[in-house]
Amino acid sequence: MSEFATVLERPVKRARPDSGPPYVRDQQFYDDEAPAPSVDWCIVSAENVLFKVQRSLLMRDSPLFSTLFGLPQGQLPAEGQSDAYPIVLAGDTASDFRALLTYLTKPGFELIPKDIPLDEFQNLLSLGKMAHKYQMSGWERWTGTVLIELVDKHARRLSTKDFSVALDLAMLLSHASLRDAVTDNWYSMVSAARLPILDAMDIAERHAQRSFLVRLYTQQLKLVCHETQQPPSPFVAVVTFQALRGLQPIHSQRILAAHSSLSIAWSAFRRLEILPRREPGCSPDHHERTCCRKFRSVWLEAINTADSSRSLPLTSLRQRVLFVQDQLAHYKQDTMINNPGDRILSPMARTSPGIYCIYVDERDEIKRVLAALPLTNSLDPYFFAAEA
Ligand SMILES: [Zn+2]
Repeated sequence: MSEFATVLERPVKRARPDSGPPYVRDQQFYDDEAPAPSVDWCIVSAENVLFKVQRSLLMRDSPLFSTLFGLPQGQLPAEGQSDAYPIVLAGDTASDFRALLTYLTKPGFELIPKDIPLDEFQNLLSLGKMAHKYQMSGWERWTGTVLIELVDKHARRLSTKDFSVALDLAMLLSHASLRDAVTDNWYSMVSAARLPILDAMDIAERHAQRSFLVRLYTQQLKLVCHETQQPPSPFVAVVTFQALRGLQPIHSQRILAAHSSLSIAWSAFRRLEILPRREPGCSPDHHERTCCRKFRSVWLEAINTADSSRSLPLTSLRQRVLFVQDQLAHYKQDTMINNPGDRILSPMARTSPGIYCIYVDERDEIKRVLAALPLTNSLDPYFFAAEA
């Protein structure tokens, strides 16, 4: 505040109750040329800084200021009429109040949201806080709109601290679109490794931003999955994951809970006994030795491809299952092509090598698996499984 304030030359007559430092006049908003305190003009203090402001300016947009600054009929009260008796704004910082005055005194053409530069970021946060406290709903909405513009436009120039305070304000204002703009852009920066994920997790947790947390956890879980894709031996207990280093225990626990559930689910899927149905005309022996064997090899190949594919991590369990389903569909098509007029094949033809029963996917196990997997692809239920 010091750059905007000068120490009063005259001693302050009345010591403040908390006997803090002496009052100083704000350089920007204590205009000596302004009319002396009167019905409209008054002296206001925030922290130890004095402002000379018009009551009408503050009362214009705020029911709370109207109550505070509205005058009773009759004579002026002493409060607000001199530097020694300012109207004290308890709990407000001088910089927050200065920011509020800055916007209240701007002409309309300087308030076009898309024209507000990033330099005003801190002032906008102050404005949002003050607008909320003093019930200036129009200004709350305006601040939200401007901040969304800035966060969308300048995400790359924002720090973790910037995102964090913007999220604080979004929560204070219960402004869902601002919250989403902040968390979406923040997540983009984290996933591009431009900002640290650990801080983002802690702040998301503090604000109980579950969907943001889930996105951050999923990102980290992918790294855990990559670490364990090729375990040295199936019987070696994995004690540490690099990707969990430095995380708060609550975060690693949730990520491990999801990792464990997903691993178990995938193992169960791998073991499904899916076989083609024996068509009339296919001998049990041929069916066993050829149809089933061929089908199992297609199944295993699909499973193993999904398992080792970096583009199908365990976090994309649904895509993995869809991939396997797709491979089986290809196999069905190939078989159909090799079996022209499939349904009218003679029993003789069915016993010839290379001709197989077709895998029929009605009432399929895979469809049941897919129906049980979350449609949205969100891993929320897996991360929070232990906290229901
Ligand atoms: Zn068969």
